[in-house]
Amino acid sequence: MVVILLGPPGVGKGTQAVLLAESMGWAHVSTGDLLRAARREGTQLGQEAQAYMDRGELVPDSLILAMVKEHLASLPQEQGVLLDGFPRTVPQAEALAQMLPEVDREVDRVVLFLAPDEVLVKRISGRRSCPNCGAVYNVYFNPPQMEGRCDRCGDVELAHRADDAEGTVRRRLEVYRELTEPLIRYYEGMETPMSRIDADRDVDLIQRELRSAFA
Ligand code: AMP
Repeated sequence: MVVILLGPPGVGKGTQAVLLAESMGWAHVSTGDLLRAARREGTQLGQEAQAYMDRGELVPDSLILAMVKEHLASLPQEQGVLLDGFPRTVPQAEALAQMLPEVDREVDRVVLFLAPDEVLVKRISGRRSCPNCGAVYNVYFNPPQMEGRCDRCGDVELAHRADDAEGTVRRRLEVYRELTEPLIRYYEGMETPMSRIDADRDVDLIQRELRSAFA
């Protein structure tokens, strides 16, 4: 089972992905999280990706594809995979279509998250994440029980991503419209089953709707 979560930055894909992966026992593969981990570890990939990420631009396909390929190969065959933030361009989707048969998988469904731009900007500026477990919160929509602290990891202080600054957010939305949105047509053309989710709603409600798509 391979499911692609598609949608603009700030739409809540990461929050939903963590919850869905946990309830289904699937692997949550977030290319943004993998890149941030590479940056923290100071690997060559992390260093190469840094400047692109800080500007809100996409990291070159060659770097992303090598990283995803290695990660997919490390997962047990029987485990479902939730792709979050990948593919982000049509060439990445084409490369994914070539790489999946090598690991005996195919794309089963695309879930498209939709919300108005003003909601996205608020979501992003309010976003906080746990550097330890990756859980994502929002000070407006989904606050942690104790301000600034992760519910799961207790004492770990939540972080605000540098690329969530307002100017960078606007650039990330432009990049989404220009390079990622064409993937909707691409997967419609491939006749991949697609669920459209109104993401401008309560986190639990969206999660229930998502789970029902896989019941
Ligand atoms: P995200 O956490 O998914 O919002 O990703 C944060 C940043 O990582 C993006 O703005 C890009 O710079 C980079 N990134 C993440 N996934 C990809 C991808 N599939 N292709 C290119 N760049 C990516």
